[in-house]
Amino acid sequence: MTGVLILAAAVLALAAPPACAVELKTVMHMHSHFSHTGELSLPQLVEKAAARGVDVLIPTDTFIATYEYGLWPLRGLVRKRVEQNSVLHVGIERYLQALDAAERSRPGMVVVPAVEVAPYYRWSGSPWSGLILEDWHRHLLILGLKTAADYAAIPALGNTTGADWSAWPIVLMVLLFCAAGAMAALELRAGARPSIETCVLALLGALVFANGWPFARWQRSPYDGGTDWSPYQRVIDYAQGRGALSVWAHPDAPNWESPVTVAPRVQVRTAPYPDAVVRTAHFHGFGYFSEGWRRAGVPGGEWDKKLGMYVTGARGLPCWAFAEVDYHHPTDGPIDGTYMSVDAKERTREAVLEALKAGRFYSVAAGSMPGLRLKRWELSAGGRSAGAGETLSGPRTPRVDVELSSEGREAAKAEITLVRGGRVVTRQSVSLPGRWSFLDDGNTDARTYYRIAVKDERSRELVSNPIFLTP
Ligand SMILES: [Zn+2]
Repeated sequence: MTGVLILAAAVLALAAPPACAVELKTVMHMHSHFSHTGELSLPQLVEKAAARGVDVLIPTDTFIATYEYGLWPLRGLVRKRVEQNSVLHVGIERYLQALDAAERSRPGMVVVPAVEVAPYYRWSGSPWSGLILEDWHRHLLILGLKTAADYAAIPALGNTTGADWSAWPIVLMVLLFCAAGAMAALELRAGARPSIETCVLALLGALVFANGWPFARWQRSPYDGGTDWSPYQRVIDYAQGRGALSVWAHPDAPNWESPVTVAPRVQVRTAPYPDAVVRTAHFHGFGYFSEGWRRAGVPGGEWDKKLGMYVTGARGLPCWAFAEVDYHHPTDGPIDGTYMSVDAKERTREAVLEALKAGRFYSVAAGSMPGLRLKRWELSAGGRSAGAGETLSGPRTPRVDVELSSEGREAAKAEITLVRGGRVVTRQSVSLPGRWSFLDDGNTDARTYYRIAVKDERSRELVSNPIFLTP
């Protein structure tokens, strides 16, 4: 009897409808007063977003904005350091409290804690001919770290709390002080005053201490030269280990490609870095809008290469197409110029982060116009179906179903580009609102994925996350 009851309960549990989902308009990557570039306060950002019908705000203030150049061999002593406003500079606790207060200031609005991190920079050139600060604008967005201690130890270059200990200056300092002490003791016992040599050794010990303080060592120093992805991977792994999301920000951004002079004989340069998407692992996606669709996101680009690695099992996590608005000033256009429509289980921080991790969202770029709406995005075969971020087990000939409309209900013609496994399968023109079904009888891959990109005649765009197909 008990067994029957358990069985009945299990059947009922299986038959129970899933928790009621909500579709949340989500904007990500804004800077407030906690960043040196942010012109608005967090409550002002919340108000601006609320006025545009936004449900979820993900501000990403700059975690650390400190760089320095030191002259060899006394890089710790003879140095120039530039420190600008950032979360670390103002205070992590204050930032987290301000985010909580901003959320409370507007009931119904969800504010997800996040930061923008520059994990690494490097110097090229020389102080005499001119220095270039390279890769300073290669950024990762880290979403959903939980405690102030988690933020404090983000292993970004310049953050001493996130650095390893450097042992050799301490060992050298101790050896020098011991040698100076022993020599001084012998000299004093012989009735002599400490010699010049003894004083020099003690001074050298003090110099090593002053130059080495605070004895922080980074995996890669800014003087090592050459591009290396390990400092970025380290930040990603750190976030992953704490259940947080990492998203590559603006990988195709061209605005720092040519060196920009920031001080006499100092320039800043960051070439676009779409290859970050394939060179690093275990992150959750990249900013497709506004600066990731030109190279990383084109059919056959780095995003498709990454998804190809995922379906063949070479890399552990799939990769989603996020929308980031990169908003610093009110003159940057509407705060929802690009946004994500997130299919969350409820209106909470945790539910939003869960949906973002699972890929249950699509991204839109519409400027100040009402955005496009993806009402249906589904792969089906043999009576089963799957949506964004999910995997369909089925034959190689699935059916693709798309339903599109405009938030503003304006009629327009849109073109849907269907990509399968990195290749464009077909392009289809539809009238909005409209539906499109496609039976893909040309697929030969047992394991693959489908995604769509949409552009309408008013230049509004939409990109879906992939749906995977396995045998
Ligand atoms: Zn950035």
